[in-house]
Amino acid sequence: MRGKLILAIVGLAFIAALTMAGINHHKRVAMETKCVQQMAMLWEMARSHVVEAGLSVDTAISQADLWQYMGGQFSTNMRCPLGPSVYSPFTFRNGPQCPYSEAHNQALAKISAQPAYKMYKMIVEREDRERKTR
Ligand SMILES: [Zn+2]
Repeated sequence: MRGKLILAIVGLAFIAALTMAGINHHKRVAMETKCVQQMAMLWEMARSHVVEAGLSVDTAISQADLWQYMGGQFSTNMRCPLGPSVYSPFTFRNGPQCPYSEAHNQALAKISAQPAYKMYKMIVEREDRERKTR
């Protein structure tokens, strides 16, 4: 009788631990997704900004510089859900960086290696070529 009770308690604790781990994992994935999506958006807005303003791909671009693409001056404070700091200014060449998680940066790098991002590489390569011939 007592053995069964202990088994039940251990079983419940085990299920609770699994559930917590599952919730934490789910939260972590959701936070990474949000961070990476935001960085990808910033990078895309930086592309428009670089092309429209004729900037170098090595110009540091802050979120404040991108306000016109964000639908207002007050939405220029995107940040990783893991911490309070907004994304630092970044160059179009390198893209935004998450200050809190290397995994988030690696996930963004993986995305930017996809064919859809070929245009990004072309813009950088074109500027590098022009610089060499100057
Ligand atoms: Zn992040």
